[in-house]
Amino acid sequence: MRIFFGLELDPDARRALSDWRDRHGFADGRAVPAVNFHLTLAFIGAVDNRKLDTLCRAVDDWDPDTGFGEVVLDQVGYWPKPGIYWAGPSQPAPALAALARKLQHLGGQVGARLEKKPFAPHVTLYRSCTAPPPAPAAPPTVTLAYDHFTLFESHMGRLGVSYRAVEHWPLGR
Ligand code: ATP
Ligand code: MG
Repeated sequence: MRIFFGLELDPDARRALSDWRDRHGFADGRAVPAVNFHLTLAFIGAVDNRKLDTLCRAVDDWDPDTGFGEVVLDQVGYWPKPGIYWAGPSQPAPALAALARKLQHLGGQVGARLEKKPFAPHVTLYRSCTAPPPAPAAPPTVTLAYDHFTLFESHMGRLGVSYRAVEHWPLGR
């Protein structure tokens, strides 16, 4: 199965980001269904059940020093090569970056390729854009509050990709 660690958007944040997109976020790519909105922390890739179990136990055994928190999605950006239009924080998110780094590292123990690019927290709004989206009239202002992180299974079906939460881990204070 294909897996990754990420943050879920709570229902309010999901709705707020979706509403902002309806009003201001136009692009010529495929709109990500709001139900699929997520913030990727660490992409792991394909694992079998044994590796999945090893990875989950490694995360269980680790005591994250990242507490709960929030990140404000207040800017948009465009990556031309994958054609991704995204919303993300304008402010650095060092706690999330540390969490992402640690999860990448744990993933490396079950064969995940090490990410070379620096962590860029974002929620993908559109994929496969062929032209830069127009600048929005107003930026998003969506607060994403988190108190846990999630291991997702990514499934490619006939109706497109869907994500299933495999396991959650709390982020204490
Ligand atoms: P699709 O690939 O069908 O467009 P998707 O990209 O949402 O859908 P996955 O490819 O399974 O589904 O990716 C799951 C998450 O991991 C997404 O947030 C994606 O951007 C991220 N991701 C996928 N591949 C990588 C990679 N090689 N490096 C970093 N992040 C990745
Ligand atoms: Mg992909």
